[in-house]
Amino acid sequence: MWIGIVSLFPEMFRAVMQYGLVSRALAAGHLDIRLANPRDFAADKHRTVDDAPYGGGPGQVMMAEPLAQAAESLAARTHTAPRRIYLTPEGRPLNQQVVEELVVCDSLILIAGHYEGIDERLRTNACDDEVSIGDYVLSGGELPAMVLVDALARRIPGVLGNAESLAHESFTAGRLEGAHYTRPRLWRGETVPETLLSGDHAAVESWRARSAFKRTYERRPELFKGRPLDAHETTFIEDLQKGGDHA
Ligand code: SAM
Repeated sequence: MWIGIVSLFPEMFRAVMQYGLVSRALAAGHLDIRLANPRDFAADKHRTVDDAPYGGGPGQVMMAEPLAQAAESLAARTHTAPRRIYLTPEGRPLNQQVVEELVVCDSLILIAGHYEGIDERLRTNACDDEVSIGDYVLSGGELPAMVLVDALARRIPGVLGNAESLAHESFTAGRLEGAHYTRPRLWRGETVPETLLSGDHAAVESWRARSAFKRTYERRPELFKGRPLDAHETTFIEDLQKGGDHA
């Protein structure tokens, strides 16, 4: 996957590009990330990229032209037509479904805003999509862009070592993943659930399914909306309501 990023602070992307899974995806050639700074496309010697809003009011607005040229310079470096995404609190909320939808794109351009945001004409003429990482306001689009890059990188085929782990992950099957334990068996007086030590794979699978179901039911019941519960899940709910499930 090819990702171009328009940002006033390209150096910030070292945080994801030089560490962990994204850096491994880059090194293995699964992912290519290119950066462009709109200041390099400013029209004046002060490299100005923002101006006061028409109509007055507080703050500054990022001008369309330097951003457009930065995005175009990136697009010229890829052979496919990139989907251009502006990161904004006004965008559609990022969730696993949106990640799955975007990861099939050959190329993306992510535009990180600052100040009060970007000129509306860039949004309507040179962006295909708008994505928010949550109902709160950050000072810039760099962290949202990094969040999206990380979420995408781990869904690119071949990037995660164990494809099996994806199948059980939170949100993949419309539920949370549930509890994990590792050594030591006894930690500060608390032991690991017996079933996980039994070596009985079917029992372990069933324990995990119940743990996932319980956690989703207690924390995010809305994830079950829109799909019917199967017979096992109905039994889990009955057990939980009776207070009888300790997964
Ligand atoms: N005035 C804007 C508003 O009220 O919607 C907020 C602008 S914010 C201070 C500056 C930039 O940070 C935005 O242009 C956007 O790129 C980015 N940003 C802030 N919060 C975000 C969020 N929750 N999701 C995605 N991008 C965000």
